Amino acid sequence: MSEAERLEALRDHYVRLEGVNDELDERLGSARERRRDLREEVDRLQRENETLKTASLYVATVEEISEDGVVIKQHGNNQEVLTEATGNLRERLEPGSRVAVNDSFAIQTVLSNETDSRAQAMQVEESPGVVYEDIGGLEDQIRDVREAVEIPLENPGMFDEVGIDPPAGVLLHGPPGTGKTMLAKAVANKTNATFIRMAGSELVHKFIGEGARLVRDLFQLAEEEEPAIIFIDEIDAIASKRTESKTSGDAEVQRTMMQLLSNMDGFEERGNIRIIAATNRFDMLDEAILRPGRFDRLIEVPKPDETARERIFHIHTRGMNLADDIDFRALARRTPDASGADINAICTEAGMVAIRDDRTTVHPRDFHRAIDKLELEEGSSTPVATEGTPAFY
Ligand code: ATP
Repeated sequence: MSEAERLEALRDHYVRLEGVNDELDERLGSARERRRDLREEVDRLQRENETLKTASLYVATVEEISEDGVVIKQHGNNQEVLTEATGNLRERLEPGSRVAVNDSFAIQTVLSNETDSRAQAMQVEESPGVVYEDIGGLEDQIRDVREAVEIPLENPGMFDEVGIDPPAGVLLHGPPGTGKTMLAKAVANKTNATFIRMAGSELVHKFIGEGARLVRDLFQLAEEEEPAIIFIDEIDAIASKRTESKTSGDAEVQRTMMQLLSNMDGFEERGNIRIIAATNRFDMLDEAILRPGRFDRLIEVPKPDETARERIFHIHTRGMNLADDIDFRALARRTPDASGADINAICTEAGMVAIRDDRTTVHPRDFHRAIDKLELEEGSSTPVATEGTPAFY
């Protein structure tokens, strides 16, 4: 082999080796990538494992802080325990603080006030500022509610004398924004009762797993605040007809409803507490909730008729600076499908139109522009009425 041939062969060999090198380099690259992926996977699994291994914590309330330690009361079983908190945590504790404790009751963290579901879920008003005169139409409904709630609270002896039990619970049903909450607030005002409101949907959606406890809390709070009116809004969320499905969500709703029924059944001894529930979905309610001794007084709260709408326009413009020529009857005629909440929104909007026009007096045309505007907006979306949101059906 000549020198030139040897050189040629070596070059070929070199080129081959370079090819092999490139290929191995590439394989190394993908192996490294795979290793990175696997590492990430291992990290993720390790984190999951840690989470699974960490024991759940229990929620408790601090009762007392003393030289001997911290007395806490566990939620659920009300067991009182003397425990310890480390220096740093101890400084942040005060009686009433909510804390998370582990299996050995050692305090792990202090929960912020926002985590206090009881306070979040219930709205308490000493004596709400709504009076019967603020409610337009609904004369029959007002009479029914007074009979079923006001008389038993103010004059319980009357029922004893006649020898009948007052209705246990009153159920108000009807379309959104028609004054159900107002009725309940007005009767609380009239009887100087504390008004405690809880929304069924919040119970099952916002406080998952706590529904039954919150219902117990609700009745306990009502006992502390006697005389009290418990108002359960959107009761259909916890008392819908039973469905076939067996998901854990349904079980939770069932538990919440069973707790409510059991609290209502033990109601007679409760004295100065009345319970009012409201729903827009009467058709969905489970019959168990409507049995005698439970919500046995049903009151339908319909959309206002023309006369009622005229009255509601009057009510919501009482504080407004109006021109002299407002024809309330005409406004009522123009809004056949409006609820009380819609009329409230129209009046506010009419005021806004005047302000936009740089006026301090509200004219008939402002109301008509407000009605046009709210109807127009409604046309494009599904009607959903919440307080202050207009909805025409
Ligand atoms: P939802 O079913 O949506 O909870 P609701 O029937 O409880 O509605 P309310 O909260 O009582 O309705 O009413 C909402 C607002 O609408 C009230 O604050 C009030 O301004 C107005 N409103 C509703 N109905 C009437 C009425 N009959 N008279 C005067 N104002 C009313």
